[in-house]
Order: sequence, then C-alpha cells, then structure tokens
Amino acid sequence: MTAEEIIKSIPKVVLHDHLDGGLRTQTIIELARDERYEKLPTTDPGELAAWFHVGANKGDLVEFLKGFEHTAAVMQSKEALERTAFEMLEDMKNDGICYVETRFAPVFHTKNGLYPEDVVSAVLEGLEKGKSKFGVGYGLILCGMRNMKNTLEIAELALNFRDQGVVGFDLAGEEGGYPPRKHLEAFQSIQRANFNITIHAGEAFGKESIWQAIQWCGAHRIGHATRLWEDLSLDKEGNVVKLGDLAQYILDKRIPLEICLLSNVHTGAVDKIENHPFGILFKEKFRVTINTDDRLMSDTTMTKEFLTAVNNFDITLDDVEKITINSMKSAFLHYNERLQYIYKIIKPGFQKIRKKISSQPQVKIKNLNFIRKKDSGTYEETVYKL
Ligand SMILES: [Zn+2]
Repeated sequence: MTAEEIIKSIPKVVLHDHLDGGLRTQTIIELARDERYEKLPTTDPGELAAWFHVGANKGDLVEFLKGFEHTAAVMQSKEALERTAFEMLEDMKNDGICYVETRFAPVFHTKNGLYPEDVVSAVLEGLEKGKSKFGVGYGLILCGMRNMKNTLEIAELALNFRDQGVVGFDLAGEEGGYPPRKHLEAFQSIQRANFNITIHAGEAFGKESIWQAIQWCGAHRIGHATRLWEDLSLDKEGNVVKLGDLAQYILDKRIPLEICLLSNVHTGAVDKIENHPFGILFKEKFRVTINTDDRLMSDTTMTKEFLTAVNNFDITLDDVEKITINSMKSAFLHYNERLQYIYKIIKPGFQKIRKKISSQPQVKIKNLNFIRKKDSGTYEETVYKL
C-alpha cells in the first residue's frame, strides 16, 4: 500500500468546498450544450480541465475567481444544480469522504429567472439524492458575496432552510477592499437566530480581516486564516516564540481554521507550499482542518491535500486522524450527530486501516515517516520508513 492508497481509504471530512468550484469538466461541457452557453474556451474535457487549472494557478485571487464565471453560467436551471450537487457527492465518495460541507452563492444562479429559494431547493434535492445513493453525509453553507449589498437576504435564506440541510452562512469573494464588518446586519441576523457562521478571511488580506471576522462578525470558523502567521513571532529556526493576542485567542477558544493548502498556493496566499503556516499551526495545536476549496480549479481532492501535508509537513497517520476528528468536531452538524460520525465511522475506519497495515509490514511509503502502527489498543512508535 502507498500513502496515497491509505489516505484515500480512510474516512475523511471536508468543511470548506465550493460546489461551483468542483464540477466535472464533462458535466460543464454537457450543461453548456444544454443551456446554449457558448463561451467555454474549449469543449474537450481534458483541455478544459487544464484551462481551469492554469487560469487558477496565477497566484492572484481575482484571476483565480475568473473560472467561476463559466461554472456559474452552466448552473442556471434546477436540473443543472441538482446534477452538480449529486455528482459532487459521488466524487466525494470516490475520494473516501464520509461528510462534506459544501458551499455556494445562490445569487449567481438566478440569471435565467430562478428564485434564490428554487436554487437552494434544487441543490438540496441533488444532495439528498446523493446522500441516499452514495452514503456521504452533507451540510450546505450559503455564501453571501463581500462586494454585494444583499448579504442580509442570503443570511435570511440560510435561516429559512436551516431544517432542510443548510447548516451555515459564509462570506466569500474578493477580500481586499471588502471588509467583513460591512455586512454586520447579515451576521447579526444569524447570531440572533443561534445559527452558524464561517467567513473567508486572511487569504488575500491580513490578520485584520481574521480579527474582524471573529470579533465583529462572530465567525465560529475561519476559512483559510493563512495570514494568521502575521500574528506569530518566530525564532531563526522557525519555532514560535510568541503569539499575538489574536492568535492566542484563536488557540485558546479552539476556533477551527479551514486550511486549504493547494488553493493557497494557486491564489498566491503563500508563495510556495513549504512556506504555508499549516505546519506551525498544527505543531502549536491550533484547531486546524484540511480542505479542498475548489477541486476543479486547484485540480485537487482531499487525498491530494492530505498527501501534500504528509509530504511537506511530515504528518503521520495519527495526525491525519487527529485532523479528521478536528474537522468533525468543528462541523456545523448537531453535537450528537458529530459524535456518531467520530465513534461509528471515523475511529473504526482508522482502526481498520491500521489493522491492514500491521498485517503487511512492508508498507511502501515514499519519503516519509507516515505510518505508525497501533496494536492491541496501544500506540507503538514503530515507524515504517523507506
Ligand atoms: Zn473558499
């Protein structure tokens, strides 16, 4: 078994995934044909995938967001929305995901006359069908856009669907120049209704944005938080010597950080993966989670994201389990449901793979100290190295 096979086979959780950032290229092409959308750069699935990836990999968030014009353009009918939601869960199943929180901005799907309620209902229908067919749990997060004025309406839309599969509200889009506190009314309506908030912050803009998201807007989780490194003082060896007040608060309050490694390289939030603060944040025991963000644009999966963490930050199978449990603890599901996932699916899934590994001592792992085996209930520090 390779590290990739091991990671793929263990139950994983995604908290930060954009529905319109994860379409299959074949589906985009078929939907474009059905909806007579003629602006796709190519109708070859492979070339289209490459186009999205190259376009996204320019190191700039604004450039990165351009690909969404095409995906949103082909998601304008109930059928298209239902199909993409359904296929997303199938792709998640094939990647070994047991629970996903996917998100999207309903406002981009009303061009052909659908009401926002229709848009959300169609997506939920696809998700519900996908859940029964593929056995992957889901929660839907509705995104308001930072550069638009209608975020209160989207927040209210999320509240209207809270018992039907919507689990939270997010603020997304270009970060610079659009601080989250401009949308206080939306956030306060969510807070007053005892509902859930996550906010994209600290991706293209600094720690100020993270601070506003938490202390002005009441975010329960932070999307990215990459620039939290601005609040950490490091010595020459890269060890943390002091945390700023914000970082200390986030650590103390166990505020979950939705880290998206490859996406951060593609949007230029970090210049290269080795410089991503994930390794430091994990070591310092922040509640980090690992996520896909935009599977199509970043050409990624959860398996790839974890492999990236394994190869660059030296994390082990135990760490992968810890991060997965962090994710489930931080999900916007009710507490009892989270426990069910942890004790009925995640822990037994890791247990099963450890058994399998210990029955095959010659584990083929490249370049890493990945596997520690667990025998009869006690961890052994045995590391298989190649
Ligand atoms: Zn995102």
